[in-house]
Amino acid sequence: IRKQQLIPKAHYGGRHAVTMLPGGGIGPECMGYVRDIFRYIGAPVDFEVVDIDPTMDNDDDVQYAITTIKRNGVGLKGNIETKSEAAYVTSRNVALRNELDMYAYVLHCKSFIGVPTRHKDIDIHIIRQNTEGEYAMLEHESVRGVVESMKVVTASNSERVARFAFEFAKKNGRKKVTTVHKANIMKLSDGLFLETSRRMAEEYPEIEHNDMIIDNCCMQLVAKPHQFDVMLMTNLYGSIVSNVVCGLLGGAGLLSGRNYGDHYAVFEPGTRNTGTAIAGKNIANPIAMINASIDMLEHLGHHFHAGLLRRAVNKTVNIDRVLTPDVGGSNSSSEVVDSIIGNIGKS
Ligand code: ADP
Ligand code: MG
Repeated sequence: IRKQQLIPKAHYGGRHAVTMLPGGGIGPECMGYVRDIFRYIGAPVDFEVVDIDPTMDNDDDVQYAITTIKRNGVGLKGNIETKSEAAYVTSRNVALRNELDMYAYVLHCKSFIGVPTRHKDIDIHIIRQNTEGEYAMLEHESVRGVVESMKVVTASNSERVARFAFEFAKKNGRKKVTTVHKANIMKLSDGLFLETSRRMAEEYPEIEHNDMIIDNCCMQLVAKPHQFDVMLMTNLYGSIVSNVVCGLLGGAGLLSGRNYGDHYAVFEPGTRNTGTAIAGKNIANPIAMINASIDMLEHLGHHFHAGLLRRAVNKTVNIDRVLTPDVGGSNSSSEVVDSIIGNIGKS
């Protein structure tokens, strides 16, 4: 078994340098909150901020961002927009994940007791293949009116992400892994993904393995979500299922997601929304980005600061219920942040 090497780099005098990519929409304001909170708690992190111009036709900014993440080992990001309509300009978010080979995405979907929802006590981990599948970005119009889009599934990446999922389940004391697929229709591509996960499951007899077709999975999730523990899937299904579960738990503004490769890790809000329509209005829910920053602190080994902040967020959301309108509250973004800062060290 290859050992994951998530060794944080750029570590000077007990402090870490981290690349910050604010992105568009609500990204910059959410990053501002993170910086305010980090300053208040004295988090030993120095941000190297890289702004990416969404209208550019070249990818110089993205390449620079990638260089800094390679140097720092760790990034915190908002959603980067790609405004150029030129077909050869591909999604910057996808390019970043692919070039850093961050093949696994982890979304921990855990209910917040302070946020009213239909289902209570959900606790699911979604593990998503993050660099290929339907996001290969290989599309072309072979003849006028006929567009082909390639879905690329490789044995090596299926194996890496399956290994990641089972190791994750083992390390975190989880009982079951469910592979989500459409192998009844996409017999070769999803078939390979499914077969690989079945073979991997044999190496982990202590962990139950089952599989489910993506359509049924979406129905089961909204009807009976408690049957799921760790879920493993290809890229596009992962994006859709992540949004389904985030919706069940209170929407786009709460959960954080983690991108991992063998060398780099990037933390971001779980649904990867830009939030253009709500930007600059002091109404965006800052919790998703703050949770991403807590994940990042934990990854860097700053458990004291991570714990301090996690307890304050828990008190604000679940006990004091200082919440933005998207989760049924009437507070502004900055009131939520002020509440968190006020709760530091009090819980
Ligand atoms: P996309 O980035 O895919 O275009 P949107 O930015 O439109 O997605 O986000 C989808 C929905 O989620 C919108 O209704 C948006 O207002 C909402 N949303 C996203 N992030 C947040 C947030 N942090 N707080 C509140 N609502 C959010
Ligand atoms: Mg989106």
